[in-house]
Amino acid sequence: MDELIKRAGRDLASSKNVVALTGAGISVESGIPPFRGKGGIWEKIDPMEFAHIDTFMKEPGKVWNVLLKDMKEIIDKAKPNDAHKGLAELEKLGILKAVITQNVDGLHQKAGNRDVIEFHGNFAWQRCLECNKVCETREIDLTQIPPRCECGGIYRPECVFFGEMIPPHHLIRSRDLASTCDIMLVVGTSALVQPAAYMPVMAKQSGAKIIEINPEKTPMTKSVSDYIIMGQAGRIISAIVKEIKQQL
Ligand SMILES: [Zn+2]
Repeated sequence: MDELIKRAGRDLASSKNVVALTGAGISVESGIPPFRGKGGIWEKIDPMEFAHIDTFMKEPGKVWNVLLKDMKEIIDKAKPNDAHKGLAELEKLGILKAVITQNVDGLHQKAGNRDVIEFHGNFAWQRCLECNKVCETREIDLTQIPPRCECGGIYRPECVFFGEMIPPHHLIRSRDLASTCDIMLVVGTSALVQPAAYMPVMAKQSGAKIIEINPEKTPMTKSVSDYIIMGQAGRIISAIVKEIKQQL
């Protein structure tokens, strides 16, 4: 693994146009359980029922009770971990250009990254369905469910529900970034779900190197990644940043 960290350090240090694609795996060390996979929330509740926009519009109280209340509690408390901080450091060093994320926890921005494309929106914000007022999720009062704005309208999180479209400008921007970067760093995602899945493929086809950081091999590893560094993202990214700083 040390060899691979050195290799990643060399590759990244010589680039000024790196894009990171991140998923649930990067936030696990911040105490946020993944939605998909073993132990994930979607094993306990059916997303097509409880995370669907139609259900939310019909029964917002039910969705707040079953899903959003717990999400708020977990995300309110979560802090960026070493992986988020390391990516923010890479931006400061002028190496990382942007982060494309499937997460809604807002931890990349909290860590200090300024250019973050959130495919699925950001749970840190709520919007009133009546007057469109936006407020921070932490500030929302949950003594009544569903929570309401002072105008009486119901709050919804600023993230994308099942049955809703990913904002087209996010897609366009991500495609541009993927097709022009020289390295794509894939962290904490097996990139099985579209549109994220297409980004590394697109980067690769445009000549970029793909460096994967995941706890175990994924379907991408063999077909798309140039190499994979296996293990905890926080530890690996910190080590890579240290390596880069020695070289600069
Ligand atoms: Zn309102």
